Amino acid sequence: MIRILLFIFFLQSICSNAQEIFHKTTKLMGSRFDLTVVANDSTEGRKYIEIAIEEITRIEKLISSWDTNSQTSEINRNAGIKPVKVDKELFDLIERAIAISKLTDGAFDISYASMDRIWKFESSMTKMPSKEEIAASVEKVGYENILLDKANHTVFLKKIGMKIGFGAIGKGYAADTTKQLLISKGVSSGIINASGDMNTWGKQPNGEDWTVAITNPMNKNKAFALLPLKQGAVVTSGDYEKFVMFDGIRYAHIINPKTGYPSRGIISVTVFAPSAELADALATSIFVMGKDIGLDRINQIPNVECIIIDTEGRVHQSQNIKINEKTN
Ligand code: ADP
Ligand code: MG
Repeated sequence: MIRILLFIFFLQSICSNAQEIFHKTTKLMGSRFDLTVVANDSTEGRKYIEIAIEEITRIEKLISSWDTNSQTSEINRNAGIKPVKVDKELFDLIERAIAISKLTDGAFDISYASMDRIWKFESSMTKMPSKEEIAASVEKVGYENILLDKANHTVFLKKIGMKIGFGAIGKGYAADTTKQLLISKGVSSGIINASGDMNTWGKQPNGEDWTVAITNPMNKNKAFALLPLKQGAVVTSGDYEKFVMFDGIRYAHIINPKTGYPSRGIISVTVFAPSAELADALATSIFVMGKDIGLDRINQIPNVECIIIDTEGRVHQSQNIKINEKTN
């Protein structure tokens, strides 16, 4: 009898631990999101995915500079006119973005966005913007002119024509926030993958770490490396999706805020960091800083590592990283 009871108990414990992986791929923030959660059954799995989608949609409404109803658009419309009161969440995000600008000597700058009036990587540009257009546009860029009033939670862009945009940090931020929300709802494990900006937590139901594939910039259909990821975030930023070509020169969608010209020399950057937001912003910054300064800077930040691939296909990595390259 005891044996039977023990057997039933054993069976029950297996069944109650039988967690499964649930996935959904969907388009949010204008990008592909792959959402993965571990749950006890499909009803629970679907519910968690739904919570994630709602959260990402909420963030998009707050930070999008395309959506004319967002607080971000309100800030942009009032550039040079007046400070705009915003939610604490947006205020804090802008404050952290400015901190990253300082950390990267201005390579990262959310006020790069005024230049999306002349550099349009999404649609077909037919010629280079003129030197004059670039000079006039770069004049509106500068994180020093984003004025924050902490007591009143207002944001003021000092110059008329200034504009902020979260293209280089928003997806990472959404991945972090969604992860935290799901954890607070009791989700033990999952991956939020925002087009290569990934944050993971927990383990797979079989007890193994999640394995993340990093895109090969030379061939998007092949993984460049497969890495186990325990807790943190990994972000890959590449110029293989958004770029323009003029006179045989490839210009990436990441702009040097000081010159107004797109960065060159690097085709892909992968950054590992405790948060996807930081990894996302740093990946973009490395494009602008270039390989040498980028590596040097990353080597000085604790718990942050990177892999850079230059336009010749050479791989450079920060001091504490060890990868087994996978070429096919
Ligand atoms: P992806 O969106 O392909 O993952 P990134 O995270 O590197 O790539 O972000 C690139 C986007 O960041 C650009 O499309 C643009 O919206 C914005 N951006 C471009 N240059 C800068 C810059 N110097 N600082 C901050 N954001 C930038
Ligand atoms: Mg980025």
